[in-house]
Amino acid sequence: MSVEQAPVQRADFDQVMVPNYAPAAFIPVRGLGSRVWDQSGRELIDFAGGIAVNALGHCHPVLVKALTEQANQLWHVSNVFTNEPALRLAHKLVEATFADRAFFCNSGAEANEAAFKLARRVAHDRFGPEKHEIIATVNSFHGRTLFTVSVGGQPKYSDGFGPKITGISHVAYNDLDALKAQISDKTCAVVIEPIQGESGVVPADQAYLEGARALCDQHNALLVFDEVQTGVGRSGSLYAYQHFGVTPDILTSAKSLGGGFPIGAMLTTSELASHFAPGTHGTTYGGNPLGCAVACAVLDVVNTPETLAGIRERHARFKARLELIGEQYGLFSKVRGVGLLIGCVLSEAWAGKAKAVLDAAERDGVMVLQAGPDVVRFAPSLVIEHADIDEGLDRFERAVARLTQV
Ligand SMILES: *Cc1c(COP(=O)(O)O)cnc(C)c1O
Repeated sequence: MSVEQAPVQRADFDQVMVPNYAPAAFIPVRGLGSRVWDQSGRELIDFAGGIAVNALGHCHPVLVKALTEQANQLWHVSNVFTNEPALRLAHKLVEATFADRAFFCNSGAEANEAAFKLARRVAHDRFGPEKHEIIATVNSFHGRTLFTVSVGGQPKYSDGFGPKITGISHVAYNDLDALKAQISDKTCAVVIEPIQGESGVVPADQAYLEGARALCDQHNALLVFDEVQTGVGRSGSLYAYQHFGVTPDILTSAKSLGGGFPIGAMLTTSELASHFAPGTHGTTYGGNPLGCAVACAVLDVVNTPETLAGIRERHARFKARLELIGEQYGLFSKVRGVGLLIGCVLSEAWAGKAKAVLDAAERDGVMVLQAGPDVVRFAPSLVIEHADIDEGLDRFERAVARLTQV
């Protein structure tokens, strides 16, 4: 039996939603692979991937099967009980990474909240309350809870909410000397995105991550990698720490982990995990059977040599064409990034106009992202068809030609 649904339009957003977003003028209603259709039946190619979330595109048959099978089995029991999908997912993550233990939650911010609380708890237990300082990087992004905007430290997200969490400082990204000058025996954690996502797709330097690891070891501080955006194949390795060969003490994952179903995870060692006892931290929905069943299926597809090699191939295909487009139309000064997290830095003439590029692309039927005002970001499905890449980039080039002609 189907219930008649009342028709809704984009204008309803301005009537009934809290106005903290400014969504596009069209409403997507259906997706398949890397194509999306809006209410009017218009088809778009999706290079945005729901902000690096739809790792296997839309409605991937393996994920639809995992979700519907679990939906017919068991939805939710809370953490008063454990469940089979959560245990299976933890086994998969532990087998595939440095970690021995997993904590599940529902978003990137929650994974980071857990990571920062764990880092503080470990330091508190081992060294006392003095050792509670966290060092993060300028322009980092870790989520929107009060703790995570405080660690992110970008005034546009953290100012205007009263007192912030204290004991947090920010040093320039990729600047090992700045980190060395700031770190002390009061530091409990250093938090780094191996590739800064939201603020421009900036990969870390190898020596920076290696140096940060050594400094943390010298000062008994934990190295936390926020892999919410870079994790689950995005970099062409399962996690970006594996790409760089620098192992953190705590790693956070979300976005692609659920392929579109909300789930987050914090991964760590047995020794560190032991500082969270029953009651220290928790969440009602975290590790629910639906999310964990889908994430298991995502990992099964992504974590194979073929899929990971395919991501690196697709990177090369995107990069070569984007460099050509950037040069021909004087739009980009640089194309950077790793795997299928690619940032095109706007040239001086187009600085600050990333939103205009997004809007132009959408008019020509391709969804892309920005990463700050100066970078056009691509975070498509990790298994996007080569034909969709080519067709999407044809559309993107038409949009760029039109935009730069005016
Ligand atoms: C998106 C993102 C977050 C926040 O994730 P949510 O699921 O939106 O809470 C945290 N860190 C990084 C690096 C991100 O890209």
